[in-house]
Amino acid sequence: MPNLPKISVCSGCLACIDSCPCNALSINISADGFFYPFCDSTICKECGLCESVCPVLNISNFPCHDFKTQPFAAWSLNDETRLRSASGGGFAELAHQIFKEGGAVAGAMTRGTDIFHTIIESPEELQRLQGSKYLQSNTVGVYRKTLEYLQKGRMVLFSGTPCQVAAILRFISDKRYTGMLYTCDLICHGVPSHALFKIYLQNQKKKVQEIISFRDKAVSWKNSFAMTVKYANGEVRRNEYSKDFFLNFFGLGLSLRKSCYQCPFATLSRATDISLGDFWGIKSWPEQHKNGVSLIIVHSEKGLDFLRRTKGLEIHSATWEDALPLNPRIYNGRNMMGRFPPRFFLAQALKYLPYPLLIKLYGNIMPKTHFWWWPYKFVLISYLKMASQIKRIRLKNMFKKLGEQKKDRDDEN
Ligand SMILES: Cc1cc2nc3c(=O)[nH]c(=O)nc-3n(C[C@H](O)[C@H](O)[C@H](O)COP(=O)(O)OP(=O)(O)OC[C@H]3O[C@@H](n4cnc5c(N)ncnc54)[C@H](O)[C@@H]3O)c2cc1C
Repeated sequence: MPNLPKISVCSGCLACIDSCPCNALSINISADGFFYPFCDSTICKECGLCESVCPVLNISNFPCHDFKTQPFAAWSLNDETRLRSASGGGFAELAHQIFKEGGAVAGAMTRGTDIFHTIIESPEELQRLQGSKYLQSNTVGVYRKTLEYLQKGRMVLFSGTPCQVAAILRFISDKRYTGMLYTCDLICHGVPSHALFKIYLQNQKKKVQEIISFRDKAVSWKNSFAMTVKYANGEVRRNEYSKDFFLNFFGLGLSLRKSCYQCPFATLSRATDISLGDFWGIKSWPEQHKNGVSLIIVHSEKGLDFLRRTKGLEIHSATWEDALPLNPRIYNGRNMMGRFPPRFFLAQALKYLPYPLLIKLYGNIMPKTHFWWWPYKFVLISYLKMASQIKRIRLKNMFKKLGEQKKDRDDEN
């Protein structure tokens, strides 16, 4: 049997499944609702390929680019493209550039209420990949397909969470192809439980047919935490954050994947070419805030060259002072919510607790009149305050480190 990572650190990238030449590995969903690989020992030949592609097992020799990582503020010049995107449409414009150069694009799409990775070949299909889906996507098959495209001489832009991008970089280690593979990861808060999502769907008043958007920007970017849902009766509704339990579960972060509380891929310098996120806290260009501004972080020479080639984006240099304070996942993968007691009992809570209790415990939503819940709320809020103090200390240390690096570079010059 292969020695794959422990449940607490496995990121669920699922590259191990694609790597197995005898198809001994398959996808399994844990009791708390996350993807893990399952190995059929009667088929496994113990070749070790799954261990060698695993980005978690190989984290110590993961190559970050020896390049001065730089932040940019950017937005698509096409308003329609931008509206369909979660932030400024950075991803869509990078994808358009790849299509112009004859390549294909891999990313996450929604089918009904399921999220999975796929590869598309034309701008007409791009809409399917646009927008953030706040669940872990099923990536089985996409790593093999990406390799097939590269072997045929096609360029590929692979997009996904930092662990999925780390996985494709392990999967495609053949140097012949690395020049044709462009990667962009997301600044990622972590992924919530599929089981909790299923319970959320079951508890909607009407049957949900499709999640049209997990992040609807129809009102504005800063007011985009709203889910647009299509029900089986054809009705389409936009549910605001304040009224949508799933977005509250996601935002509070008490039902994320275990590995997301200590993500080793959320570091300032990364192996990907480009990272994409929301430019939360941006003060410049206020007229652009309504439609969304992307934070684009370039990690490699190849990424910088690709960004410069990309037409259709307005790009401005930005500073870490603007980019880091409201987006800790750019430089720090640790999240204290993983140590808050209800997280330890998520699997049991999902199995035994009724939905109204789950909403209170994992979504922090409770009527003011339910005073018997006040002690829980008090402890939770105190814990959140302590966590934000720790974030502040980490941010200060990060700025200190960046200052020292700058001084070293200035001394060298
Ligand atoms: C789970 C999750 C957590 C996030 N957390 C943060 C955060 O804390 N801070 C922050 O600044 N930004 C975060 N983002 C990223 C942000 O929401 C936008 O996706 C990002 O800014 C890119 O926006 P865009 O306008 O360039 O393109 P969009 O069109 O919005 O982005 C589409 C891209 O996102 C990818 N994608 C969407 N959903 C998934 C998924 N479930 N798994 C893998 N890839 C996916 C698609 O493949 C495509 O590449 C998160 C995204 C996700 C999916």
